[in-house]
Amino acid sequence: MEEIKKAAEIIAKSKHVVVFTGAGISAESGIPTFRGEDGLWRRYDPEEVASIQGFKRNPKAFWEFSMEMKDKLFADPNPAHYAIAELERMGIVKAVITQNIDMLHQKSGSRRVLELHGSMEKLDCLDCHETYDWDDFAEDFNRGEIPRCRKCGSWYIKPRVVLFGEPLPQRVLFEAMEESKKCDAFIVVGSSLVVYPAAELPYMAKSSGAKMIIINAEPTVADSIFDVRIIGKAGEILPRIVDEVKKMR
Ligand code: NAD
Ligand code: ZN
Repeated sequence: MEEIKKAAEIIAKSKHVVVFTGAGISAESGIPTFRGEDGLWRRYDPEEVASIQGFKRNPKAFWEFSMEMKDKLFADPNPAHYAIAELERMGIVKAVITQNIDMLHQKSGSRRVLELHGSMEKLDCLDCHETYDWDDFAEDFNRGEIPRCRKCGSWYIKPRVVLFGEPLPQRVLFEAMEESKKCDAFIVVGSSLVVYPAAELPYMAKSSGAKMIIINAEPTVADSIFDVRIIGKAGEILPRIVDEVKKMR
């Protein structure tokens, strides 16, 4: 309770809050995280299924893994996403920087969302650059087949997400860095803070003088830079923080 109050105090006093989220914020929506207990990496080799090299070597293995994620990816936001959207409506949160590709921030009403790793919204053919929607391949997926380009026949149909070995979208990364440098409070939610360059952003915020808050189910490698650390479930803690902020304003 003490920590929740401290976090709320920082947020209520701030004019420009930036929220940085990882897979953990969507865990309560039923989307598995990569690391941590029950993480997908316990069952899949990330180098093989989620790298651009692995995808090109074996699109089929990539799709097997993605199919397990896919149904879960079209999930609903949880109270943590809604709490952040509410802080934006209150004029406190100015940007959400996310490593997630599930589009749940937008679905919950957040407007300024910087997607560092792209999103599942569209798919592209890596050979002829034709763009597709998921529905375009619904029949293929139903038959258990992997998607193939209608235009050029290529098997390299890739969701517009950043795989290991691929660069981040530079304009989005630039904006995320600017936001991290100018915010007066920076809140991390559900990230193990080990995926770079995304994990550099909290350090940028810290060295620019922001107050630092982290809400995560377990300790992280970066815990020492935070003023307030709350170990627990994002969907339970964030709504409580928002309630406290409302009492203070
Ligand atoms: P991660 O999987 O490395 O770490 C998730 C962290 O969230 C863990 O430290 C875990 O303890 C914590 N966590 C789990 N449940 C939680 C809860 N209910 N509340 C609060 N914290 C909770 O995630 P990451 O740091 O985001 O990095 C992994 C990469 O995988 C990212 O680049 C991301 O693009 C991708 N990814 C995305 C999704 C998605 O879009 N939902 C899902 C899995 C992985
Ligand atoms: Zn093509």
